[in-house]
Amino acid sequence: MIKQNFNEAARENKKQQLNTQFVVAGGGLAGTCAAISAARAGSKVVLIQDRPVLGGNASSEVRLWALGATSHMGNNNRWSREGGVIDEIMLDNLKLNRHGNPLIFDTILLDKVIAEKNITLLLNTSVFDVNKQHSTKIASVEAFCSQNSTHYIISAPLFCDATGDGLVAFNAGAGFRIGAESKAEFGELLASDEENMELLGHTLFFYSKKMDQPISYKAPDFAYSYEQIEAIPRCKDIAGSDSGCKFWWIEFGGIRDTIYETEDIKWELWKLVYGIWDYIKNSGRFDDVENLTLEWVGTIPGKRESRRFEGEYMIKQQDIIEQTQFNDAVSFGGWAIDIHPAEGIYSERPPCSQYHSKGVYQIPYRCFVSRDIENLYYAGRIISATHMAFGSTRVMITCAHGGQAVGAAAAMCNKLNITPKELLQPEHIAQLQQNLNLNGQSIPGIRLDKHNNLAAQASITASSELVFNGFQPSGSRMQLDSSCAQLVAFAKGQGPTISITVFAHKETELTCQLRTSIKHENYTPDVINKTISLSVTAGESTLEFDFSDCSLEMQYGFICFLQNSDIELATTEQLITGTMVVFNKVHKAVSNKGKQTVPENSGLEEFEFWTPARRPNGQNLAIGISPAIHNHQATQVINGFVRPWLQTNAWVADLADPSPTLRLVWPEKVTMRQIVLYFDSDFDHALETVLMEHNEDQVPYCVQTYTIKTDSGEVIAHVTGNYQSINKIDLVEPITTQHLILEFAHPSKNVPAALFEIQIK
Ligand SMILES: Cc1cc2nc3c(=O)[nH]c(=O)nc-3n(C[C@H](O)[C@H](O)[C@H](O)COP(=O)(O)OP(=O)(O)OC[C@H]3O[C@@H](n4cnc5c(N)ncnc54)[C@H](O)[C@@H]3O)c2cc1C
Repeated sequence: MIKQNFNEAARENKKQQLNTQFVVAGGGLAGTCAAISAARAGSKVVLIQDRPVLGGNASSEVRLWALGATSHMGNNNRWSREGGVIDEIMLDNLKLNRHGNPLIFDTILLDKVIAEKNITLLLNTSVFDVNKQHSTKIASVEAFCSQNSTHYIISAPLFCDATGDGLVAFNAGAGFRIGAESKAEFGELLASDEENMELLGHTLFFYSKKMDQPISYKAPDFAYSYEQIEAIPRCKDIAGSDSGCKFWWIEFGGIRDTIYETEDIKWELWKLVYGIWDYIKNSGRFDDVENLTLEWVGTIPGKRESRRFEGEYMIKQQDIIEQTQFNDAVSFGGWAIDIHPAEGIYSERPPCSQYHSKGVYQIPYRCFVSRDIENLYYAGRIISATHMAFGSTRVMITCAHGGQAVGAAAAMCNKLNITPKELLQPEHIAQLQQNLNLNGQSIPGIRLDKHNNLAAQASITASSELVFNGFQPSGSRMQLDSSCAQLVAFAKGQGPTISITVFAHKETELTCQLRTSIKHENYTPDVINKTISLSVTAGESTLEFDFSDCSLEMQYGFICFLQNSDIELATTEQLITGTMVVFNKVHKAVSNKGKQTVPENSGLEEFEFWTPARRPNGQNLAIGISPAIHNHQATQVINGFVRPWLQTNAWVADLADPSPTLRLVWPEKVTMRQIVLYFDSDFDHALETVLMEHNEDQVPYCVQTYTIKTDSGEVIAHVTGNYQSINKIDLVEPITTQHLILEFAHPSKNVPAALFEIQIK
């Protein structure tokens, strides 16, 4: 029993001092990935999150779908899903939670973090103050957990602010901005003439569900009446069946103070949300809503924008649109520049304007490094970006991917005992890029270095190598209601001759174009190399389109068939790593109307969108290609790329090979401690965390079963049920051998085994 008498002095809460190597404040996806990445690279980390679960806006407390460069697969960024820790998380989520339950996503994040022995996780703990060692250096942060009444003082040589509002950086005195820059300041043609205080606002979501009996609803007194809701012009777009993220436009606060007035903004959003639900249920304007009930309403608003902090570089509109190449690139983005009117739901203007670039863009390390505080990193929506660039960098998987870079950089700083700015030395940046790419980051254009890879010293042969001469028709056909294209990686040289079986409803003409991208690494077919139109007789026929007089660079080409609803094209059930079909059609979710049109003098580009369909739709076209393409050789597994980039970059076996095998032989015996395999988890597929359901719980291209052996038959690893991109096999005892044999099972009867890369240490 504890009995304490009256204390004249005020009592103090329990105090606990923690000393660590890296403090991450904020457990959104940016902070979570920064913490995991640093912990895996050997740093002791304290991750402080003011809420009961991790994930920030992606958590069950806000229920927003996490997205990044794949952009709902609605723009031209092919194979652009972010790699690394966030990829591992998203693939776990696909496996365990393909129906998008936000509670399960919470547990996946928690599992990932507590699995890391180097992370101390403080939940329900809010950082509220910073102690400085001197004017430009943080000594410790102070945080309080209301659940265990503990006041923590956490010291470290390095800090990362991933709190969204930038509380640590603000308290530390770092320079920041709120609002939007003028056109003149960075030469951003999309910006306003004058700087202003217009921000993106907050949103509260609600989710509804259908019961098997009618459910009545009485709104709380504070809700707006449905007459008030009806008076808001945007509410004319409501569909009774819409729920969750589909109501992203219930936005408010962009003309208020999005930090200090957040509670007031939340009340306004509650009035709107409950009023909208009342309108749906009781106005009589919606069919089939009697059995709907309100399943969940947010209590914490999703914040879009507040402070942005000034780093060593501020990424801007031109960097996104022109895809600037940075020597210190550590991450990439690909969401549109997505700006909303500050009045939010009350604006007369469209709820957003989204302008895409023609491909993914790099984000430099300097955007994450505080300009003013020598031991502080930024991660998440607060990174050093102009308001316009922030319109793109702010999405959660982009934030997570940047967070990974910060974590890996912090671990390097700790090892080398240097500051984040000192890491900018070219040799350190090159090492950071390699460390990140070894973990799957896939910084655009940066290849893994062969010198540290034992596999690159071996002679590599395969039991078979796919010679790609097209697909076998499976008997199905696709009506050519919109133009579509088979994306194929070509070697430098002459163009192909393409054959395809078509079925015409009447005599007509079929036009086929060979297109490529001005920037070779992009997937925007803005160059028409050649157009061929052939007459087609009614019924089934096989056509040949001869592009052999075109000369191609090493890059992806689009075999485009232009829209003609009188024609059906033969399709196939086969899937092959690094090729897919794209369609020139509308994708409303990301402002894709088939073609991007832009305001005059906005610094933006007009181009067509050619985007995939989600499985089970979007089957490959049963085209024949002559001459056949030989770019799936065994040696691709040491070319340093772990996803398609200019080429497929994969060894792909022949589907007829009963036992696809790679054999590595060294001139003499080598000793290895780790083998890392990089599989095809279809980096094109967006893996939204909530609301969207996914067709499959693992990617059909991904090898599930494989065995690694020495030539004496010793089994080093036997894996079944794999669904992850990266498999790291740490050998308990180092192995010395001259031969390594890797046997793979094809993922299915329609998909040949493929491997992007082998790294051996
Ligand atoms: C309605 C809406 C729609 C959007 N649409 C999309 C979309 O479709 N897809 C997408 O990916 N992104 C979207 N965004 C953007 C995205 O959600 C944010 O930009 C993103 O969450 C930023 O990530 P973050 O990690 O910086 O911040 P957050 O996700 O906000 O995470 C910050 C975390 O820090 C914690 N924290 C804050 N202060 C403290 C403190 N003092 N101490 C400890 N912890 C603290 C918070 O609890 C939070 O968990 C949208 C945003 C909103 C609001």
